[in-house]
Amino acid sequence: MTASAKLVNLLDFDRKGLAAFFVEIGEKPFRATQLLKWIYQEDVTDFDQMTNLSKSLRAYLKEHCTITPPEILLEQIASDGTTKWIVEMGLGNRIESVFIPEEKRGTLCVSSQIGCALACTFCSTAKQGFNRNLSVAEIIGQLYVAQKRLGDKKRITNVVMMGMGEPLLNFDNVVAAMNLMMDDFTFGLSKRRVTVSTSGIVPAMYRLHDVCDVSMAVSLHAANDELRDELVPINQKYPLKELMAACKEYAKLGPRRHITFEYVMLDGVNDTLQDAKALIKLLSHVPSKINLIPFNPFPNSQYRCSSTQAISRFRDVLHKAGLVTTVRKTRGEDIDAACGQLVGKVKDKSRRHLKLQSTSATNAS
Ligand code: SAH
Repeated sequence: MTASAKLVNLLDFDRKGLAAFFVEIGEKPFRATQLLKWIYQEDVTDFDQMTNLSKSLRAYLKEHCTITPPEILLEQIASDGTTKWIVEMGLGNRIESVFIPEEKRGTLCVSSQIGCALACTFCSTAKQGFNRNLSVAEIIGQLYVAQKRLGDKKRITNVVMMGMGEPLLNFDNVVAAMNLMMDDFTFGLSKRRVTVSTSGIVPAMYRLHDVCDVSMAVSLHAANDELRDELVPINQKYPLKELMAACKEYAKLGPRRHITFEYVMLDGVNDTLQDAKALIKLLSHVPSKINLIPFNPFPNSQYRCSSTQAISRFRDVLHKAGLVTTVRKTRGEDIDAACGQLVGKVKDKSRRHLKLQSTSATNAS
């Protein structure tokens, strides 16, 4: 282990964690807010410049701590202004974060894991396999480095945990990072502007409800168990009935709360009138908004995107039933930055690569 590996990275703490850290070293808990302000609002990482800390505390921090965000390896800017960063995570792993500028807001799509342990059939991250969870520093660090790159003129106003990985399978780190994003002494994002997207890890949805009040998006993609078992295999473990009950409970968090349901439009798979009707029935007891996502292809993907007419027809049927439905605009396509196209570089530990290779070899023979 190198000397620097032993240093405590202060980006790994939310306010509560940082206060506990200071108490542990014999300091007052309010040092946490002072430190957060230096790091996130004053952009100061040199402990010597933190003038409201005592000299002895500064010396202690210099010796034992560091403020080290992950490093951006590559920045790509699409023709529509969408910006993708490839971020180094060490030992041959890289993840991706994407900034999507709009007229009145700027959304950062953040990754929570290196690869993904789930096997959704329409997602390219899933094909990469899985390496590990990202730390708090690596999650909040994506926001930190992105905002630095964007400068003051382009503010990140919204965060969606919709990059690589399943956020609720990295629960503690994702919760700490989201709490940090919403802290008044860091980015101060409002809870309506931080969204966690999940494939439906039901027990974690109940847990989240108790510790972190953010907006919830659920990757639904099918309105019956048979099809969802195939598209989002975690459904075999947490079927629709359980998922819907968890959504209903989460929506009770506050007045006018709703769950956003993401629904990828796959030609001939889940886009018929019958599918739309089943969806209306399924969502009848949950305050919902629906976000239809045109399928984004990637090399060797087995699906095609539904036609524009099929998507409009599907949307209109939902609208008529009183469901607020939007069609997600595909952004950053020319740099492979759209939903489901993020691949980074994953040293697969799940051996999914090998399994997939042997399946395609068998299929080909
Ligand atoms: N694991 C989390 C967050 C990551 S994905 C989740 O499942 O919600 C963010 C969204 O992109 C999810 O709704 C996911 O289902 C969708 N998605 C994945 N692959 C896609 C593709 N090829 N085209 C369009 N959307 C895709």
